[in-house]
Amino acid sequence: DSDTEALLDALERIDERLHDEQAYLTELDSRIGDADHGNNLARGISAVTEKRDELAGKPIDEAVKTVGTTLVSEVGGAAGPLYGGSVLSASQELEGGLDAESAVAFAEAYREKLTERGGARPGDKTMVDAVTPAVHTFQRAVEEDDLPSVDALAKAVDAARRGVEYTVPLRASKGRASYLGLRGVGHRDPGATSTLFVLEELLATAE
Ligand code: ADP
Ligand code: MG
Ligand code: MG
Repeated sequence: DSDTEALLDALERIDERLHDEQAYLTELDSRIGDADHGNNLARGISAVTEKRDELAGKPIDEAVKTVGTTLVSEVGGAAGPLYGGSVLSASQELEGGLDAESAVAFAEAYREKLTERGGARPGDKTMVDAVTPAVHTFQRAVEEDDLPSVDALAKAVDAARRGVEYTVPLRASKGRASYLGLRGVGHRDPGATSTLFVLEELLATAE
């Protein structure tokens, strides 16, 4: 169906972007982690796009669910279960198809699952620092300002970008970076950065 077609377009773009940024994301992770974030995501998204034909035959919620399970099994590390498990869980919200309302529900379910599973809160210097402002901004833009979802997504991307910059001066309280203490200060969080890249590609697909 047409929702799944749009998903496949988005996944192709995300695949290209994450491969373009693979070295950069891994370099960010080399400063505050174990230098594998870009490699983990590149491997995961390749496994997803290899399933293109299988995904094409599914309704949107089933296709997104398969994306989630594939990420869980292929990405590994901390990011695999966080990215993949949240996508998997939030896919239920797309059962009736993709529209502005279900997109908000998906985004909110993703944020909830991510914070529940990882236990990180805003300010802990993780992907949550990009996800939280992006989801809140998207929700507000759709529900209160009644913006078309593409404009709401553009605002969400800006909010995520600010969230990424906000991680720079922070000291990490979750994940590997927390082992570094003050030595992690001054570096961008890799997971927040990759989250921004994914959102930028979702926006580019929607435009
Ligand atoms: P690993 O740390 O296992 O090598 P990755 O390098 O792929 O995994 O991912 C690291 C990213 O995961 C971090 O930059 C951070 O954004 C995110 N992360 C780690 N722990 C948590 C957590 N508890 N909650 C949310 N995000 C986390
Ligand atoms: Mg790592
Ligand atoms: Mg690792």
